[in-house]
Amino acid sequence: MSESQAANALAVFGGTFNPVHLGHLRSAIELLEHLPASELRFMPCSLPPHREPPGISARQRAAMIELAIAGEPRFSCDTRELERAGPSYTIDSLDSLRQEIGGQRSLILVMGCDALLGLDRWHRWQELLEHCHIAAIARPGWEWPRDGELAAYLESRESKAPELTARPAGGVHITSLRPLEISATEIRRLLQSGRSARYLVPDAVHTYIHQHRLYTQ
Ligand code: ATP
Repeated sequence: MSESQAANALAVFGGTFNPVHLGHLRSAIELLEHLPASELRFMPCSLPPHREPPGISARQRAAMIELAIAGEPRFSCDTRELERAGPSYTIDSLDSLRQEIGGQRSLILVMGCDALLGLDRWHRWQELLEHCHIAAIARPGWEWPRDGELAAYLESRESKAPELTARPAGGVHITSLRPLEISATEIRRLLQSGRSARYLVPDAVHTYIHQHRLYTQ
Protein backbone atom coordinates (compact mmCIF):
# COMPACT_ATOMS: atom_id res chain seq x y z
CA MET A 1 0.00 0.00 0.00
CA SER A 2 1.32 3.46 -0.89
CA GLU A 3 2.08 6.17 1.68
CA SER A 4 -0.89 8.26 0.53
CA GLN A 5 -3.29 5.31 0.95
CA ALA A 6 -1.91 4.70 4.44
CA ALA A 7 -2.45 8.35 5.41
CA ASN A 8 -6.05 8.09 4.22
CA ALA A 9 -7.29 6.04 7.17
CA LEU A 10 -10.71 6.95 8.56
CA ALA A 11 -11.05 6.96 12.35
CA VAL A 12 -14.53 6.79 13.90
CA PHE A 13 -14.97 7.63 17.58
CA GLY A 14 -18.24 6.21 18.88
CA GLY A 15 -19.87 7.05 22.19
CA THR A 16 -22.71 8.70 24.02
CA PHE A 17 -20.95 12.09 24.27
CA ASN A 18 -23.30 13.25 26.99
CA PRO A 19 -21.70 15.78 26.77
CA VAL A 20 -18.57 15.78 24.62
CA HIS A 21 -15.62 17.05 26.70
CA LEU A 22 -11.96 17.95 26.43
CA GLY A 23 -10.92 14.38 27.32
CA HIS A 24 -12.62 13.13 24.14
CA LEU A 25 -11.37 15.99 21.99
CA ARG A 26 -7.73 16.02 23.04
CA SER A 27 -7.51 12.20 22.84
CA ALA A 28 -9.08 12.29 19.39
CA ILE A 29 -6.54 14.70 17.98
CA GLU A 30 -3.58 12.94 19.57
CA LEU A 31 -4.82 9.60 18.24
CA LEU A 32 -5.44 10.96 14.75
CA GLU A 33 -1.85 12.22 14.62
CA HIS A 34 -0.43 9.07 16.22
CA LEU A 35 -2.01 6.60 13.80
CA PRO A 36 -2.05 8.73 11.55
CA ALA A 37 -5.54 9.04 10.09
CA SER A 38 -6.66 11.65 7.59
CA GLU A 39 -9.98 12.30 9.34
CA LEU A 40 -11.82 11.44 12.51
CA ARG A 41 -15.59 11.31 12.82
CA PHE A 42 -17.36 11.52 16.15
CA MET A 43 -20.33 9.16 15.92
CA PRO A 44 -22.85 9.81 18.71
CA CYS A 45 -25.15 6.89 19.43
CA SER A 46 -28.87 7.40 19.50
CA LEU A 47 -29.90 4.68 21.95
CA PRO A 48 -26.90 3.06 23.65
CA PRO A 49 -27.59 -0.70 23.88
CA HIS A 50 -25.61 -1.19 27.13
CA ARG A 51 -26.67 1.66 29.35
CA GLU A 52 -29.54 3.85 30.52
CA PRO A 53 -31.00 6.20 27.86
CA PRO A 54 -28.98 9.44 28.10
CA GLY A 55 -31.83 11.84 29.02
CA ILE A 56 -30.50 14.48 26.63
CA SER A 57 -31.64 13.97 23.04
CA ALA A 58 -29.26 12.57 20.47
CA ARG A 59 -29.76 15.74 18.39
CA GLN A 60 -28.60 17.90 21.30
CA ARG A 61 -25.58 15.68 21.92
CA ALA A 62 -24.72 15.92 18.21
CA ALA A 63 -25.22 19.71 18.29
CA MET A 64 -22.68 19.96 21.12
CA ILE A 65 -20.20 17.88 19.11
CA GLU A 66 -20.66 20.22 16.11
CA LEU A 67 -19.92 23.22 18.33
CA ALA A 68 -16.90 21.49 19.88
CA ILE A 69 -15.24 20.57 16.59
CA ALA A 70 -15.94 23.78 14.64
CA GLY A 71 -12.71 24.98 13.06
CA GLU A 72 -10.90 21.61 13.14
CA PRO A 73 -11.12 20.43 9.52
CA ARG A 74 -9.96 16.89 10.31
CA PHE A 75 -12.95 16.34 12.61
CA SER A 76 -16.60 15.83 11.70
CA CYS A 77 -19.78 14.52 13.29
CA ASP A 78 -21.34 11.41 11.74
CA THR A 79 -25.04 11.22 12.56
CA ARG A 80 -25.89 7.89 10.92
CA GLU A 81 -26.93 6.34 14.26
CA LEU A 82 -29.44 9.16 14.76
CA GLU A 83 -31.18 8.25 11.52
CA ARG A 84 -31.80 4.64 12.60
CA ALA A 85 -34.59 3.49 14.90
CA GLY A 86 -33.88 1.07 17.76
CA PRO A 87 -30.64 0.42 19.65
CA SER A 88 -27.47 1.84 18.04
CA TYR A 89 -25.48 -1.28 17.28
CA THR A 90 -21.96 -0.44 16.16
CA ILE A 91 -21.86 -3.41 13.80
CA ASP A 92 -24.72 -1.84 11.77
CA SER A 93 -22.85 1.47 11.56
CA LEU A 94 -19.68 -0.28 10.45
CA ASP A 95 -21.66 -2.11 7.76
CA SER A 96 -23.01 1.16 6.42
CA LEU A 97 -19.63 2.93 6.68
CA ARG A 98 -18.06 0.12 4.65
CA GLN A 99 -20.71 0.53 1.97
CA GLU A 100 -19.88 4.23 1.85
CA ILE A 101 -16.06 4.04 1.78
CA GLY A 102 -15.56 0.70 0.00
CA GLY A 103 -13.57 -2.31 1.09
CA GLN A 104 -10.01 -1.01 0.76
CA ARG A 105 -9.78 2.04 2.98
CA SER A 106 -8.48 1.54 6.53
CA LEU A 107 -11.36 2.04 8.98
CA ILE A 108 -10.43 2.46 12.64
CA LEU A 109 -12.98 2.33 15.43
CA VAL A 110 -11.78 4.41 18.38
CA MET A 111 -12.77 3.80 21.99
CA GLY A 112 -11.47 4.13 25.51
CA CYS A 113 -10.08 1.01 27.16
CA ASP A 114 -13.05 0.92 29.54
CA ALA A 115 -15.24 0.36 26.48
CA LEU A 116 -12.80 -2.22 25.09
CA LEU A 117 -13.06 -4.29 28.28
CA GLY A 118 -16.80 -4.69 27.71
CA LEU A 119 -16.46 -5.50 24.02
CA ASP A 120 -17.66 -9.09 24.43
CA ARG A 121 -21.10 -7.76 25.47
CA TRP A 122 -21.53 -5.92 22.14
CA HIS A 123 -23.97 -7.19 19.53
CA ARG A 124 -22.11 -9.60 17.14
CA TRP A 125 -18.83 -8.50 18.70
CA GLN A 126 -16.71 -11.11 16.96
CA GLU A 127 -17.65 -9.67 13.57
CA LEU A 128 -16.48 -6.13 14.36
CA LEU A 129 -12.90 -6.69 13.25
CA GLU A 130 -14.04 -7.99 9.88
CA HIS A 131 -15.13 -4.42 9.15
CA CYS A 132 -12.60 -2.28 11.02
CA HIS A 133 -9.60 -2.08 13.28
CA ILE A 134 -9.92 -1.00 16.89
CA ALA A 135 -7.71 1.69 18.39
CA ALA A 136 -8.19 1.89 22.14
CA ILE A 137 -7.03 4.73 24.34
CA ALA A 138 -5.57 3.56 27.65
CA ARG A 139 -7.21 5.50 30.49
CA PRO A 140 -5.76 5.88 34.00
CA GLY A 141 -5.91 2.64 35.97
CA TRP A 142 -6.51 0.51 32.89
CA GLU A 143 -5.15 -3.05 32.70
CA TRP A 144 -5.06 -5.40 29.72
CA PRO A 145 -7.60 -8.22 30.31
CA ARG A 146 -5.79 -11.28 31.63
CA ASP A 147 -7.96 -14.24 30.83
CA GLY A 148 -11.11 -15.33 29.08
CA GLU A 149 -12.27 -15.29 25.51
CA LEU A 150 -11.94 -11.51 25.08
CA ALA A 151 -8.32 -11.47 26.35
CA ALA A 152 -7.31 -14.17 23.87
CA TYR A 153 -9.21 -12.48 21.05
CA LEU A 154 -7.56 -9.09 21.62
CA GLU A 155 -4.09 -10.50 22.15
CA SER A 156 -4.14 -12.48 18.93
CA ARG A 157 -4.99 -9.32 16.98
CA GLU A 158 -2.68 -6.85 18.72
CA SER A 159 -1.05 -4.60 16.10
CA LYS A 160 1.23 -1.61 15.84
CA ALA A 161 -0.11 1.70 14.48
CA PRO A 162 1.43 1.31 10.98
CA GLU A 163 -0.29 -2.07 10.61
CA LEU A 164 -3.68 -0.41 11.13
CA THR A 165 -3.18 2.10 8.37
CA ALA A 166 -1.64 -0.45 5.99
CA ARG A 167 -4.72 -2.68 5.70
CA PRO A 168 -8.48 -2.18 5.86
CA ALA A 169 -9.41 -4.05 9.06
CA GLY A 170 -8.58 -6.73 11.60
CA GLY A 171 -6.10 -5.24 14.11
CA VAL A 172 -6.28 -4.01 17.71
CA HIS A 173 -3.96 -1.24 18.82
CA ILE A 174 -3.79 0.11 22.36
CA THR A 175 -2.05 3.37 22.99
CA SER A 176 -1.42 5.63 25.96
CA LEU A 177 -2.04 9.26 25.14
CA ARG A 178 -1.99 12.26 27.44
CA PRO A 179 -4.23 11.11 30.31
CA LEU A 180 -7.02 13.59 30.97
CA GLU A 181 -9.17 12.45 33.86
CA ILE A 182 -12.42 13.95 32.64
CA SER A 183 -15.64 12.00 32.30
CA ALA A 184 -19.12 13.00 31.19
CA THR A 185 -20.48 11.44 34.39
CA GLU A 186 -18.44 13.87 36.46
CA ILE A 187 -19.56 16.82 34.32
CA ARG A 188 -23.22 15.87 34.74
CA ARG A 189 -22.72 15.53 38.51
CA LEU A 190 -21.07 18.95 38.75
CA LEU A 191 -23.92 20.59 36.85
CA GLN A 192 -26.61 18.73 38.78
CA SER A 193 -25.12 20.01 42.03
CA GLY A 194 -24.99 23.59 40.76
CA ARG A 195 -21.22 23.68 40.23
CA SER A 196 -19.36 24.77 37.11
CA ALA A 197 -18.14 22.55 34.27
CA ARG A 198 -16.27 25.42 32.66
CA TYR A 199 -12.84 24.45 31.21
CA LEU A 200 -13.78 20.75 31.16
CA VAL A 201 -15.76 21.31 27.96
CA PRO A 202 -15.15 23.78 25.11
CA ASP A 203 -16.58 27.24 25.82
CA ALA A 204 -19.18 26.86 23.06
CA VAL A 205 -20.43 23.63 24.65
CA HIS A 206 -20.51 25.28 28.06
CA THR A 207 -22.64 28.11 26.67
CA TYR A 208 -24.99 25.63 24.91
CA ILE A 209 -25.48 23.66 28.14
CA HIS A 210 -26.47 26.83 29.99
CA GLN A 211 -28.65 28.22 27.22
CA HIS A 212 -30.61 24.95 27.05
CA ARG A 213 -30.52 24.38 30.81
CA LEU A 214 -29.13 20.87 30.38
CA TYR A 215 -28.11 18.56 33.22
CA THR A 216 -29.59 20.68 35.97
CA GLN A 217 -32.04 18.08 37.31
P1 ATP B 1 -19.73 8.61 30.86
O1 ATP B 1 -18.98 9.20 32.03
O2 ATP B 1 -21.14 9.10 30.70
O3 ATP B 1 -19.60 7.11 30.79
P2 ATP B 1 -17.55 9.26 29.05
O4 ATP B 1 -16.94 10.55 29.44
O5 ATP B 1 -16.80 8.00 29.42
O6 ATP B 1 -19.04 9.19 29.54
P3 ATP B 1 -18.59 8.38 26.51
O7 ATP B 1 -19.43 9.19 25.65
O8 ATP B 1 -19.21 7.23 27.19
O9 ATP B 1 -17.83 9.38 27.53
O10 ATP B 1 -17.29 7.96 25.80
C1 ATP B 1 -17.08 7.74 24.45
C2 ATP B 1 -15.72 7.09 24.39
O11 ATP B 1 -14.73 8.02 24.87
C3 ATP B 1 -15.60 5.85 25.27
O12 ATP B 1 -14.96 4.84 24.51
C4 ATP B 1 -14.73 6.30 26.43
O13 ATP B 1 -13.91 5.27 26.90
C5 ATP B 1 -13.89 7.40 25.80
N1 ATP B 1 -13.47 8.43 26.76
C6 ATP B 1 -14.25 9.09 27.62
N2 ATP B 1 -13.54 9.97 28.35
C7 ATP B 1 -12.26 9.88 27.94
C8 ATP B 1 -11.03 10.53 28.33
N3 ATP B 1 -11.00 11.42 29.31
N4 ATP B 1 -9.91 10.16 27.68
C9 ATP B 1 -9.95 9.21 26.73
N5 ATP B 1 -11.06 8.56 26.31
C10 ATP B 1 -12.21 8.88 26.91
